Amino acid sequence: MSLLCLTLCRNTLAANLEDLKMNTPHMAELRIDLLDPPERKHISDFPARAGIPLILTCRKKADGGEWSGTDSERESLLLAAMAGDFDYMDLEEDETSRRLVAEAEQRNTRIIRSFHDFKGVPSDLMQRLEAMSLKGDLVKAAVMPRGIADLLTLFKTGRQWREENPGKNNLILLGMGAFGVPSRILAQRCASFLTFCSPAGAEAAPGHMSRQTLEELYRVPEIDDDTQIFGIIGNPVLHTRSPHIHNPGFQDLGINAVYVPFTVDDVSAFFELADFLDIRGFSTTVPHKLAVREHLDREDEAVQAVSSCNTVVRSRKGWEGFNTDVEGFLRPLISRAGVLNGKTAAVIGAGGAARAVVYALVREGCRVSIFNRTESRAAALASEMGCSGYSLDKLRAEMDEGERYDIVVQTSSVGMHGTEGPSNPVPFYRFTGSELVYDIIYTPPVTEIMQRALDAGAAVLGGMPMLREQAFEQFLLFTGAEYPRKSSGMDQE
Ligand code: NAP
Repeated sequence: MSLLCLTLCRNTLAANLEDLKMNTPHMAELRIDLLDPPERKHISDFPARAGIPLILTCRKKADGGEWSGTDSERESLLLAAMAGDFDYMDLEEDETSRRLVAEAEQRNTRIIRSFHDFKGVPSDLMQRLEAMSLKGDLVKAAVMPRGIADLLTLFKTGRQWREENPGKNNLILLGMGAFGVPSRILAQRCASFLTFCSPAGAEAAPGHMSRQTLEELYRVPEIDDDTQIFGIIGNPVLHTRSPHIHNPGFQDLGINAVYVPFTVDDVSAFFELADFLDIRGFSTTVPHKLAVREHLDREDEAVQAVSSCNTVVRSRKGWEGFNTDVEGFLRPLISRAGVLNGKTAAVIGAGGAARAVVYALVREGCRVSIFNRTESRAAALASEMGCSGYSLDKLRAEMDEGERYDIVVQTSSVGMHGTEGPSNPVPFYRFTGSELVYDIIYTPPVTEIMQRALDAGAAVLGGMPMLREQAFEQFLLFTGAEYPRKSSGMDQE
């Protein structure tokens, strides 16, 4: 197990104590370089008030901190602070003060020798850790993985360290930035004694997560050698809500598993990492839904039909690929519209998501017309799926001619929260009030096209039920168990 260590990064001791009260971590690191100067004379009182093991750290600017005084002022400050009997003191690998080391020995303060690399993962990482271990009780490296291959190096280094230092638990190893996030969650697999977390809303370093996120969402203190690892790969991926679906599901069913977001730049390197960590399965999102197919040993019918794989599961037969977007899209639609066979459907957009939508509608017997800004993409998708494809202008003309559809599915990214430009791809659509309008965008919950349909008295469906249903289907593929639906906190989104 890796301990949760809260980084105390406020400018007063009182505010830091408040963060401790709100968070109750296993231990904390007091960053005295971030304190207002008048606070410094009270640092030695802090350990008694905190009541948990503390790391004393005064990080220089050159090492990513805020300390701008001289080395001798820093030494004096640390010596005075140590009167408070801190359990640990962080000293950089190149710190040469003998007085600090002697004082630490006398007070039984364990020395953590550390280095930070904000540019990458040094090729001599293991050697540097070994060298530091001669000068301290624990060693710490905080490095910046530049891609998934660097992340693999971290996990390999952690495993090697554990094998070469059995039972010592004297390594702190973590990756900063987006690529490093899994090393913070899976700190136990990095053989890291602790993982750092921030008070809510006060990220202390790139990639830091809050204590609540690490403890309650990822249940980091419960991760052990038997924990099964699942996840999601994409780029970017850290905004994903999928961990908020899968992790509570594991917890409610008592499954020892964790679902981790992996920012992935190189799919082949990720499969290497997946083998190294024995990852049991993962979701796939933009831009990797196609690229993962090269690595699959088996694909279900939907992946082949849609040419897109959003779920990968390790099985005895190798890596198996599935597409749960198809069922995820259909379930809410069928429960609202009933039998689809024979109904007319207009699909707006012809991107990645439209592929699953069109395949599902055609398979269920709908008469589908695709309308897209780029007509050639609509035509290409239509000829693949056996339906018709046109430009948005054609849909406008159809409105003038009085043509209407039973079902209108909006699959373009227009209207999605955070996108620039128009908020409705078909502002000219004239709803009769008898159609069902399904926008697969899930933020915002009610898009402009949905609002216009509602105003006309039509039935509407948003994208959240699809997101949930495709995840529930994934959960079943991952675990063999039905998702405990009450676990999904996504209704509050
Ligand atoms: P995509 O592959 O990038 O396709 C984007 C589509 O939007 C294309 O058809 C594009 O037309 C069209 N488009 C973009 N800007 C436009 C504009 N200004 N006017 C008209 N059309 C425009 O994206 P995607 O992966 O299909 O995702 C589309 C949306 O579906 C996203 O909002 C995503 O969040 C949502 N989605 C939801 C779920 C769910 O579970 N609810 C699942 C998957 C996706 P061109 O071909 O002309 O570029």
